[in-house]
Amino acid sequence: MNHALNISAVNPNAPRIDGAASAGPASLAGMTRAQLRDAAIEIGVDPKKAKMRAEQLWRWIYHYGATSFDEMTNISKDLRAQMADKFSLHRPQIKERLVSVDGTRKYLIELAPGVECETVFIPDVAKSGALCVSSQVGCTLNCTFCHTGTQALVRNLTAAEIAAQVMVARDDLAEWPTSNENRKITNIVFMGMGEPLYNLDHVSDAIDIISDGDGMAIGRRRTTVSTSGVVPKIKELGERTGTMLAISLHATNDDLRDELVPLNKKYPLAELMDAIKQYPGLNNSKRVTFEYVMLKGVNDSIAEARALVKLLKGVPAKINLIPFNPWPNSPYECSDWDQIEAFADIVNRAGYASPIRTPRGRDIFAACGQLRSESKKVRASELRKQRMDAKT
Ligand code: SAH
Ligand code: SF4
Repeated sequence: MNHALNISAVNPNAPRIDGAASAGPASLAGMTRAQLRDAAIEIGVDPKKAKMRAEQLWRWIYHYGATSFDEMTNISKDLRAQMADKFSLHRPQIKERLVSVDGTRKYLIELAPGVECETVFIPDVAKSGALCVSSQVGCTLNCTFCHTGTQALVRNLTAAEIAAQVMVARDDLAEWPTSNENRKITNIVFMGMGEPLYNLDHVSDAIDIISDGDGMAIGRRRTTVSTSGVVPKIKELGERTGTMLAISLHATNDDLRDELVPLNKKYPLAELMDAIKQYPGLNNSKRVTFEYVMLKGVNDSIAEARALVKLLKGVPAKINLIPFNPWPNSPYECSDWDQIEAFADIVNRAGYASPIRTPRGRDIFAACGQLRSESKKVRASELRKQRMDAKT
C-alpha cells in the first residue's frame, strides 16, 4: 500500500459481523420480503398478520437502517424481544476501509470467515455517487487484464450479501434514513468482483431489495449491470431487472477479444451484438454502456477507434474508455494519455460525449480485484495445479 496518500484503514466503529460470519442468529438485514414474512411466522406471528409485520420490518431495516430491534417502536416490546431472540440485524463486517484523497472509499467486506468481497464508493463531482458492488467472490472468467480473474476462490454471493454491501456503505457514509435529497449513493454499478450474469437469480433479488421505493430506493434506471458478454442471459437480465446494461467490450474483432475476454470464444462479437440489440427498452435515453479498457499497443490504435464506432452503429450507446489500472505483475500497460485522447476524439466526433473515465482512487488501488489481492495472491492457475498435484 505504498502508493496510498491518505489511508484510514480498519474502521473501529464498523458494524459487527453478520450472523453467517459469526455463527450467531440469522440476520434479517438483506432478506427479501418473502423471507421476512417467513421469519415473522417463525417467531409465532399469525400467518394472516405476517405480511403486515414484514412490511414494518422492511421499513425499519431498509428505510431507517435499524441496527437494533429496540428502535422498532411500532412493534410491541414482546414481539421485539421474540425477534431479538431468534434473529439479528447485523451486517457483514468491514475488514479494511481505505479512503482516497479524491473521496473514493474502498471496503473489503468479510461476508463469512475467509469469504471477502470488495465494494467501492465513487463520489462524483456533481451531487451524486456510485457504489460499485461485487456479485461473486473471484471470477471464473480470466480476462487477461483483470486481477479478479486471477483469484482463486469463487462463489456466488447471496442476494443478502449483495444488498448488505449497500447497507454497509450507507452505515459508513451515515446515510440513514433514506432521503431523496443529500444522498451520497445515488447509483449502483455491478462492476466489482465477479460476473453478475453467472449469478442472475441472486443479483435480481438483490436489485429488488435495493431499488424498492419503501426502502433504499436506488432505482433500476440508476442501476447498471456490467457483463463480459454472457449472451444467453442478456435479454433475461433486462426482463427481470429493468436495469441499465453495460458490456465489457475491450476489442472490436474476435481475434483480440478472444485473447482479452476469453468468454468471447464461446459467444463471439456478432452474437453479442445481436443479444445487445434485443435488450428491452433500449432507446436514446436508455443506452448501453460499452466499457473499453485502454491497453497500450494492444487495442488503442486509431483504426480500432474507427472500428469501434462502426461496430456500435445502430445501437443506442455510451462509451466508457477506462484507463487500464495496473496490478502487480500485470501483463499490460495503460495507454499513453495522448493516445487515449486521440482515440476519444474519434469516438467523440462520432457523437459519443465525454467518454474517458477519470481514474479514481488510484492511491488506494480502487480497480477491480486489488484490495483483496493484498492478502491473497494465489493465481487460479497455480491453485488448479496445486489441486491436480494433490490428487496425483
Ligand atoms: N465481470 C463483469 C463486471 C465486473 S468487471 C464485467 O467484466 O463486465 C467491471 C469492469 O472493470 C469491466 O469493464 C472490466 O473489464 C473492468 N476492469 C477489470 N480490470 C480492470 C483493470 N485492471 N483496469 C481497468 N478496468 C478493469
Ligand atoms: Fe471476471 Fe469481469 Fe474480471 Fe473478466 S473483467 S475476469 S468477467 S470480473
